[in-house]
Amino acid sequence: MTAQIEIAEVTKRYGALTVLDKLSLSIKANEFMVFLGPSGCGKSTLLRMIAGLESVDEGTIAINGQRIDTLPPGQRDLAMVFQSYALYPHMTVADNMAFGLKNIGVPPDVIATRLTEAARMLEIGHLMERKPGQLSGGQRQRVAIGRAIVKEPKAFLFDEPLSNLDAALRVRTRVELAQLRHRVKSTMIFVTHDQIEAMTLADRVVVMNNRRIEQIGTPMEIYTKPASRFVATFVGSPT
Ligand code: ADP
Ligand code: MG
Repeated sequence: MTAQIEIAEVTKRYGALTVLDKLSLSIKANEFMVFLGPSGCGKSTLLRMIAGLESVDEGTIAINGQRIDTLPPGQRDLAMVFQSYALYPHMTVADNMAFGLKNIGVPPDVIATRLTEAARMLEIGHLMERKPGQLSGGQRQRVAIGRAIVKEPKAFLFDEPLSNLDAALRVRTRVELAQLRHRVKSTMIFVTHDQIEAMTLADRVVVMNNRRIEQIGTPMEIYTKPASRFVATFVGSPT
């Protein structure tokens, strides 16, 4: 079952700084939702709270009706892909991908099948015995996505996964992610400050700025009917 995620009146503070102020949002099962906004607006903080990696000061976040703070980390069933890839440098690609599965006791034959399928999908079969240091940035990024796919999570959480790639590879990987989305049935939340990524990947976009949500809508709605001057400027709508 994929994840339906309900964020209700969530507030987050770091000391005196309020990062998110009473933010509410519903994400549908199987939806590709993009959080778009300038650097520092709280996108990563919100994503980390959904993953249960960051505490919520006020309000609630629920996945399929269950509050994340009541779920032990092993049962949240989400997979996060970071901008920095966060691979284990001393492990091979295969071991990096298998590690999380071994930890939760998935049988070896199931792990092998999932690794083979993910490797085929991402075209990384020839890299499985290499270590991350022997891979290009783009290859590392695929491995990080592969490691998420093999978990068969209820939701994928991507935090600017393309921002360390050069321009050409960024475009190629963006296209591949769009295809992946149709092969892997799961809820996907994708954080970016890049409006082109948001517009090409999203079912719906959440435009964030200054501690709150400026607008939620399909790329077409956001582009043709921006709810504020900020949205219009940020997504480059015709004026
Ligand atoms: P974004 O991902 O949109 O760039 P972040 O969620 O990383 O934004 O950060 C939102 C705000 O919270 C920024 O002002 C940032 O400096 C601040 N912030 C993020 N994490 C911490 C932290 N652990 N301690 C203090 N301030 C933080
Ligand atoms: Mg961020």
